[in-house]
Amino acid sequence: MSGEFFFAGSELRAGLLAAHPGIAHGFGTRDGASPEGTLTTVKQIHSTRVVDAATILRQEVIEGDALVTNRPGLAVAVKTADCFPILLADPVAHVVAAIHAGWRGTAAGIVTSTIERIRELYGSEPRDILAAIGPGIEACCFEVGPEVAREFAHWDRRLYCTTTKEMVDLAAANAHQLADSGVPRNNIAHAGLCTADRTDLFFSFRKERDRAGRMVSWIALRPDTTTGQ
Ligand SMILES: [Zn+2]
Repeated sequence: MSGEFFFAGSELRAGLLAAHPGIAHGFGTRDGASPEGTLTTVKQIHSTRVVDAATILRQEVIEGDALVTNRPGLAVAVKTADCFPILLADPVAHVVAAIHAGWRGTAAGIVTSTIERIRELYGSEPRDILAAIGPGIEACCFEVGPEVAREFAHWDRRLYCTTTKEMVDLAAANAHQLADSGVPRNNIAHAGLCTADRTDLFFSFRKERDRAGRMVSWIALRPDTTTGQ
């Protein structure tokens, strides 16, 4: 995995996405001033349901956990507090995606489903996909019961340790899904900032429960990038 992350105002950005002038994105923080209202979202249900954002009508509430689009200027977004926001961009096929990956979605393969969908819909090749795994609850703080740990046993033994506690590494599980789908390791960036440890910066549902707000992470193709091609 590679790629630095940096703060830009109230947002966190991934260098690997920011390096592409045709892509705009941001991972929300506690102070997130993301332009809600201009963003397309879904009602998140911890599923593997991938929604083509262009099919959502104004005011319509659609359930799902990933949004994809190839429409320039249409920003797709997910809301999180411990779950992982994952942003994908394919600068070749001109497609972006925003994914909400909590433990249920991760175990069920939301990332794999999203990549399959953008291949089907837009002919995206995994080798061209850039992926940024934003701030979420890291393995240091994600202690789970045996029923949750069991969901991850098939991914990789490294995903949880059984010394005294069972800790699930959701970021690693999602990175595995990206790599297994054919996304090159060098195209995968991981913020590595734990929301539960850094409540000065991020909301954490585990730490704050009902007081936790939600961070909005979004991505869009800039409207001017497809002209002249
Ligand atoms: Zn932590």
